[in-house]
Amino acid sequence: MSEQKLSQYQETVQSVKKIAEDLGYKESDYITLLSPERELTVSLPVTMDDGSVRVYHGYRIQDNSARGPYKGGVRYHPDVEIEEVRDLALLMSLKCSVADIPYGGAKGGITVDSRELSETELERLTRKYAEKIYPVIGPEIDIPAPDMNTNAKIMGWFRDEYSKIAGVQVPAIVTGKPVEVGGSLGRNEATGLGVKTVTHLFAQSQNFVPEETRIVVQGTGNVGLISAQLLAEEGYKIIAISNIAGAVLNLNGLDVSVMDLKNGDQKNYDLLIAQSGSQEIPMEEFLFTECDILIPAALQNQIHAENADKINTKLIVEAANAPVSAEGEAILVNKGVKLLPDILCNAGGVICSYFEWVQNLQYFSWTLEEVNQKLIAKMTSAFEEVLKVQAEQKGTYREAALRIAVDKLIQAAKFKGKF
Ligand code: GLU
Repeated sequence: MSEQKLSQYQETVQSVKKIAEDLGYKESDYITLLSPERELTVSLPVTMDDGSVRVYHGYRIQDNSARGPYKGGVRYHPDVEIEEVRDLALLMSLKCSVADIPYGGAKGGITVDSRELSETELERLTRKYAEKIYPVIGPEIDIPAPDMNTNAKIMGWFRDEYSKIAGVQVPAIVTGKPVEVGGSLGRNEATGLGVKTVTHLFAQSQNFVPEETRIVVQGTGNVGLISAQLLAEEGYKIIAISNIAGAVLNLNGLDVSVMDLKNGDQKNYDLLIAQSGSQEIPMEEFLFTECDILIPAALQNQIHAENADKINTKLIVEAANAPVSAEGEAILVNKGVKLLPDILCNAGGVICSYFEWVQNLQYFSWTLEEVNQKLIAKMTSAFEEVLKVQAEQKGTYREAALRIAVDKLIQAAKFKGKF
């Protein structure tokens, strides 16, 4: 009988189980981590601008609540399906645990190519989704946030729809909102600032000098673009960048300060390719560019069994969720590549979401300096903890991060009691 390939979710579950066993726990201690606590599938009828009706499908998966209310983003993407959302929800439980913020994990998604929708259609779809998942969420139950292809404006609509149904203002129902309706200063840049913080710390731990360190970044969405800009400000050389429009290489270092999120992919790409020394490279070869640090900040499963041996870098910083598969990582580790895992690297977004939520619950707002300083402190202590455990255990950085996360989740579940 041919062996069936495990889904990404099943792979993550397997690694959680293995870590729990290595930590010496019994099955009865960790069994609740191996399946989501609640799954909701909704159909979302939307009246389109031309009067026709389309039905979209959405999900909200609540993975684990041992450490606090469920927390996690909502993504809009044509490839969204339930098994992927399960994986992303479990990663959120692990991420909040590593980051040491008092949340469990959840994730939501709608199977939709949002670029094909007008703004009014997108608003109707978002409001319908908020209405349909209303019964299972709440500011002390489950707090959604932005993820791939969702942004502050969408969170603003979500906040409004939830509040309308509730009959009261509920700013803490969602994070990543516009500042004007209760969002936090710094939230848009938070994941990028977190990625920059750990990349810099990781590079320092390897005695890399910023000016001599070549970085390649995949993706110019919110995370890739801001990480690249902050790292360039620190002196690092960003030698290659890719997005949907193409891949550009410049061995002198790209001037990434010209990019702007508002520009969109094509314009940002055009601005980079126009610089002196820039050249276009084939998209299929982009990830194999020789560099010191590779930052995949786009989709999941970009580096896998079929291409990992061609990767030509010293460090990988996983800024996207699950950009490297388990098989891909095993090949990389064998080659001596060091990889810092997603549940640590991209935790800046949810850490700042936590700050936004705390500000909302107190009806008080912090300055940008206060937010950023607290964010850097949280990211730094999470990084140091992962490095410490890795040095003791001698495994990978992912195993170290999982060890910290799984241990805290099991301990929280234990103190809650079983019955
Ligand atoms: N979507 C982001 C993530 O994957 C942020 C989640 C949040 O802020 O709740 O971490």
